[in-house]
Amino acid sequence: MSILVIGSVAFDSVKTPFGQAEDVLGGSAAYFSLAASYFTKVKLVAVVGEDFTQENLAIFKDRQIDLSGLQYSHGKTFRWKGEYGFDLNEARTIATHLNVLEKFQPEISADYSECKYIFLANIDPDLQRKVLDQVKNPKLVACDTMNFWIESKLDSLKETLKRVNLLIINEAEARELADEVNLVKAAKKILSWGPDTIIIKRGEYGALMFSGDTIFSCPAYPLEYVYDPTGAGDSFAGGVMGYLTNSQDLSEQNLRRAIIYGSVMASYNVENFSLKRLSELTLGDIEKRFKEFKQLTHFEEL
Ligand code: AMP
Repeated sequence: MSILVIGSVAFDSVKTPFGQAEDVLGGSAAYFSLAASYFTKVKLVAVVGEDFTQENLAIFKDRQIDLSGLQYSHGKTFRWKGEYGFDLNEARTIATHLNVLEKFQPEISADYSECKYIFLANIDPDLQRKVLDQVKNPKLVACDTMNFWIESKLDSLKETLKRVNLLIINEAEARELADEVNLVKAAKKILSWGPDTIIIKRGEYGALMFSGDTIFSCPAYPLEYVYDPTGAGDSFAGGVMGYLTNSQDLSEQNLRRAIIYGSVMASYNVENFSLKRLSELTLGDIEKRFKEFKQLTHFEEL
C-alpha cells in the first residue's frame, strides 16, 4: 500500500533561539514524505523550480520516495522564511514567496490515481481539491492547512474540508479556522463541516484527537534539546498517515497508536534543522521512542 501526498517542497530560511539556517530544504510535503517513508511507500506530488539540484533530490531518493509526480517548472522553488522566539510553538512568518507554486497544476498519473490513502499537506486548498478530483476511490483522505490559507482562501478551504475524513491541524489554526477560542468547541464546529476526525497538534503540549464523542490526548516527548520546530506538524502527520497506510486499520485504537508514531517522528524532527534528523533515522530508533511513549503515559487504575 502506498500513500499519495501533495504539498510544498521549499527552501526555508529559519531562525530559532538556538541557531539559524538559510535556504535549506523543507516544505510540508518534504517533511511529510520523509517521515511517512519509514512506514510505507510514498508518492510525492509537488513542484520545484530550476534552482532545485540533484543533491536536493538525493534526500528523497535515498528514502525510496516515488518522485514521478514531482514537476519541474521555470522559475524559483517556493520559499518560506520564519522565525521562532522562546515559545517554539509559534512560528512567525517573515516571508512567503509562492514562486512556482503560483501556477502549479498538479497532474496525477494513472498509477497515482489508484492510491487509497491521500494526504493533502499544507498548500493552496484549490490545489488540494485538484488532486482529489483525480484520485479514483480513496479510503482515507487527510488534510493539513495553515493561517496563510485560512486568511486568504477560507471558502476554498471549507470546500476541501467537505471531502476530508481526517483533519490534522495545529492548535492556533484550529481556533482561527473555527473562530472559537475553546478547543473543544472549535473541534466540534470543524467536525460539523465534514471531517469525521480532527487531530489538533499542540506543539510541546502534545496532541488531542476528537472523533464522534471520544477524545484522546497524548503528550509530546519531553526533549531536553529542541533546535528547530519547523516541520514538526508535517512529520507528525507523516508518522500518523504512514502508520495507518501500512496497517490499513482505521479503528479508534489504531488511530491512537498512529498518533504516538506521529509524535515519535515529530520529536526526532525537531532535534536538528531542516530534514537532517528525519533522513538518518532507523526503525530501531522509532520503536525505541514508541516504547518510551508507552512508559511515559502508562498508569494503572486501582
Ligand atoms: P510546520 O512547521 O510543520 O507547520 O511546516 C513548516 C513547513 O511549511 C516549512 O517547511 C514551509 O516551507 C512550509 N510552508 C510554510 N508556509 C507555507 C504555505 N503558505 N504553503 C505551503 N507550505 C508552507
